[in-house]
Amino acid sequence: MNTVPPLDLSQQYKLIQDEVSQAVQAVLASGRYIGGAIVEAFEQEFGQYIGVRETIACNSGTDALFLALRAFNIGPGDEVITTPFTFIATAEMISAVGATPVFVDIDPQTFNLDLEQIPKAITERTKAIIPVHLFGQPVNMTRLMAIAESYHLAVIEDCAQATGATWQGQKVGSIGHIGCFSFFPTKNLGACGDGGAVTTQDPTLAQSMRIIKEHGQASRYRSDTIGINSRLDALQAAILRIKLPYLDTWNQQRQAVAQRYHQFLYPLAEIITPQEIAGSQSVWNQYTIRVLSTSERLNSDLKPRDYLRNYLQEKGIGSMIYYPIPLHQQPVYQNLGYQPHQLPSVEAVCQEVLSLPLFPELSPDQQQQVIDALKEGLVQTTQQ
Ligand SMILES: *Cc1c(COP(=O)(O)O)cnc(C)c1O
Repeated sequence: MNTVPPLDLSQQYKLIQDEVSQAVQAVLASGRYIGGAIVEAFEQEFGQYIGVRETIACNSGTDALFLALRAFNIGPGDEVITTPFTFIATAEMISAVGATPVFVDIDPQTFNLDLEQIPKAITERTKAIIPVHLFGQPVNMTRLMAIAESYHLAVIEDCAQATGATWQGQKVGSIGHIGCFSFFPTKNLGACGDGGAVTTQDPTLAQSMRIIKEHGQASRYRSDTIGINSRLDALQAAILRIKLPYLDTWNQQRQAVAQRYHQFLYPLAEIITPQEIAGSQSVWNQYTIRVLSTSERLNSDLKPRDYLRNYLQEKGIGSMIYYPIPLHQQPVYQNLGYQPHQLPSVEAVCQEVLSLPLFPELSPDQQQQVIDALKEGLVQTTQQ
């Protein structure tokens, strides 16, 4: 039994259930279930929120990445630089278009790409960089765009975990050439099912992505390229339109939870707490600490992180490991010939990360339970 779940989507639904029911009923009664005015209105409103000219809704964040890569004609023989510390979809879509993901190690402070290591990974085959704003923390986009420009590379932002996050006051997804968003239910702006979008300032890229997501059809029943079928349902668009106006408040609530964690957990020597980098505002999709593996008194087969996680579980506190395996060590990429011990920072971090319960409605009481249990657990971990 969890007394504090890692996340709870039902509380947010309760807050908006009347509005959502009405919007859903209206779509059902309209008889227009795919495309149409509601999807277009959502695209318009989301684009305005992010600060871009063009938004194209699609079926998922995964599809968004696929569309973005295809819009740049990235395919066999091309290389795309990305992080090994992300959900598999980021690299998977690079592979799906036939290109090769090139993994650059992370900065263990931010969990994001170590930008200074990018230039040495660039070859004449490199076409693009996909930075991931992991856990809601923006990448330093000023530095990244400067690197990309000097090597003439496309920048596709993976914003799946960072809807509403800003770098130097600009929303992520409006800074690179294309932004990719996911509306998977656990993301900051989540639908009641799958959903995604791509954003761009460039009408030509937008047009390509519109065509590719509709079976490569520039006009009906005339296909010019191999595309896919990737649509945001009208029902999901209607729900997202209800939720979008709440997003900033929900993100602020996440920030307040993160600040409270920081206040109580920052002083603890056995862990490292996440911090926003100067110039950025994180939207805290996750609050991910590192439980240091160097606790010397430990006399157990378990890593301190795993010991602590079990301890929290016994106390009814849910926590998650995002992510246990860096992508270059995933069986699929091992089978493709990637070497296992090349990226020391991400390999160390994967042994140490633990994501604590964080959602807008997490109460101060619940949070105190997490903090108390975590402190007790750390004493146990190091005194075993
Ligand atoms: C969730 C996620 C995706 C994929 O989004 P889906 O909507 O689940 O397909 C891609 N990248 C990152 C970093 C994610 O967290």
